[in-house]
Amino acid sequence: MATNVVMLGPPGAGKGTQGERFAMGHRIKRISTGDILRDEMHLGTGLGKAVAAVMDRGELVSDEVMIDIITDVLSRPDVANGFVLDGFPRTVPQAEALDALMVGRDPLIVLDIVVPEAELMRRLGARMICEACGHNADGRETTPGVCHICGGKLTQRADDNAMVVLERFKVYQLATKPLVDFYRGRPTFRSIDGAQAKDRVAADLVGAVEAIASGAARVVSGGGTR
Ligand SMILES: [Zn+2]
Repeated sequence: MATNVVMLGPPGAGKGTQGERFAMGHRIKRISTGDILRDEMHLGTGLGKAVAAVMDRGELVSDEVMIDIITDVLSRPDVANGFVLDGFPRTVPQAEALDALMVGRDPLIVLDIVVPEAELMRRLGARMICEACGHNADGRETTPGVCHICGGKLTQRADDNAMVVLERFKVYQLATKPLVDFYRGRPTFRSIDGAQAKDRVAADLVGAVEAIASGAARVVSGGGTR
């Protein structure tokens, strides 16, 4: 059975490293759309030039172009044993196109690496602090931006770079929410706690894929157990 994985997660969640590690461990191909676009631009291909022009205008590469790229990549023999997809899909139309490409293949496993905002900020060296009680945000907040001890508002210690990172994170969450909602109800979807140590996250990713794969194998074999 092929291991076909999509990894979702915000910038700073360690998706690239974890994807690389998982792909190597399973001897499958990691497909990073960021790498593909950079290579095309570097090689100066027709696609690369078109992508560079789009990016120069400050726009996002269209669903149509991204879907064409993935259609091509998934038609190659080196993904027969599976793949880890990083950077695609980014939108619901892209996810729908991926579903169409997956017809006749082993099921798509979707792993969402979840990192609380406070943990991401802690990693990025920009601590949030409670305006009311002075408690340092420590990732135990259940509501982003709200102190879990007194309910006060968390504010950022001034740091322009951190504010940019926070903004990117919020944009990501907003843009990705419909995508996560698109996948969430599936039996092959799992949320992974990305706030843990790297080795723990890696182990959880492997565990989730094994659990999903054994469940899918049971379905294929008619649900019988021995
Ligand atoms: Zn507080």
